[in-house]
Order: sequence, then C-alpha cells, then structure tokens
Amino acid sequence: MQSPAKDKLPEAVESFLLTVKILEESLKSLPENVDGAYYQALEKALENVPAVHQAYDRYISAALVADGKNITCKKGCSACCRHFVTSVEPFEILALHLRIRKSEQYPDQLFACHSRVTKFDQLLKKEGEDPEAEDRALYRYFLRGAACPFLKQDGECGVYENRPMSCRMFFAESPPRFCSGKEVVSPWNKNFQVELPDVAEEALARCSALLDNLELPVGLFSGVLDANALFGKYES
Ligand code: SF4
Ligand code: SF4
Repeated sequence: MQSPAKDKLPEAVESFLLTVKILEESLKSLPENVDGAYYQALEKALENVPAVHQAYDRYISAALVADGKNITCKKGCSACCRHFVTSVEPFEILALHLRIRKSEQYPDQLFACHSRVTKFDQLLKKEGEDPEAEDRALYRYFLRGAACPFLKQDGECGVYENRPMSCRMFFAESPPRFCSGKEVVSPWNKNFQVELPDVAEEALARCSALLDNLELPVGLFSGVLDANALFGKYES
C-alpha cells in the first residue's frame, strides 16, 4: 500500500498539467506577427503563468513529503542565489519581465543581468567546446559569488512570486554553509533538485514551443535582456 504522502503526488501532477494546458491554449491564440498587438495578447496569456507556478509549488511540496526529504532551506538563506540561473522556460522569462519592467530597480537589474551574462560568456569561452565546458563555466561563475540581480539585501528573493521553476526545484539537506563557494563540491553538500515526471516535462515543452518564434535563451539573465530588447518598445 502507498503512503498517504505518495497518494497526493498523482493529484498534484494532474493539477499542474491542467494549469499548463490552460497556459498552452492561451499561447496558441497569439497572433503570428510579433508587434504591439502580439505583445498585448501575450500579456493576457501570461496571466496564466502564476497558476502554473502555484501548482508547481504544490507538486514540489508533495514530492518532498513523499520522498521523506528533510530540507535545511530557510527564508533569507541565499548562498544558492549565486548560480547562473538556467533551464528557464520562455513564458517564465516573459512573465518575470512583465513583473519587473516598471519597478524602480529595473534599470539597475538590467545592468546587473548584462554584467552577469558578459562574465559567464567570458568564462564559457575560456573553457573550450568539450561536453563538460558549460558545467565548468557554471562552477567558475558560481565561485565568483556574484548575487542574482533579483536578490535583495536581506537575502530574500526580490521576485519570489515570479521566480522560475529552476529556482523553485533547488534544495539542500545539508547545512547552508555547504551551499557556498567550493563547499558545493564537498561530499557533505546535499543539494538536490526535485524533478517533474516526464508527462509534465512534455507538457511544458509543448507550451514553450509556442514561443519558439521569439528565440529566447534558456538563461534567466540573458532572457530578461532579450525580453527588454524585444518588447521594451511596446511597453507604456
Ligand atoms: S539550497 Fe542551500 S543556500 Fe539555498 S536556501 Fe537551501 S540551504 Fe540555503
Ligand atoms: S530569481 Fe530569486 S530565487 Fe532565483 S536566483 Fe534570483 S534571487 Fe534567487
């Protein structure tokens, strides 16, 4: 017999799939040409993203309980917010961009995104082109300790409600000091990611494919820069 915690997982997956389906249907109705009308329709479609994130969080909570994880993550703990955030869905980049574009901090955040992307690109170039080059560049970037442009002084995420799933899925079962600097590769570090089942990954991929025409990168910081370049002119 399954544990009660494991029983909740299928329900959480179903609920997540439903929210992704609603987003997918709204993205299907976007006009063909990327112009002001497209941007207006996109804004409307992106209203469905928070529900996807909320359902995702419910799935994550259910998965953590089902797997018996004893996480050490706490509010304001932010050593992990020094990673170069990647594997972000295009609709997440666009929804985040919509949320931040009118804030006072937006120009500074854009500059910070630019400096992070420039640094990462330099590191990647130095690593060559073998299959592990990107992993080494990501590690070297992390060692530099540059905070995410959206991290607040008090260690809390400044875009918590709109942070991408790649941030939401990342946890530790070890003390936070093992999430810092070179400790991340020590045997005492117990960082882990909660994976979605294949059926949910496939649904996300279908949804994101509807935004392929925008050619957004998978990196959060470069994605925000591209969203600004694409849509800044349509924003009032
Ligand atoms: S992953 Fe590590 S640094 Fe990030 S919140 Fe959890 S314990 Fe803190
Ligand atoms: S978006 Fe938020 S949670 Fe993600 S790395 Fe940046 S500050 Fe941390």
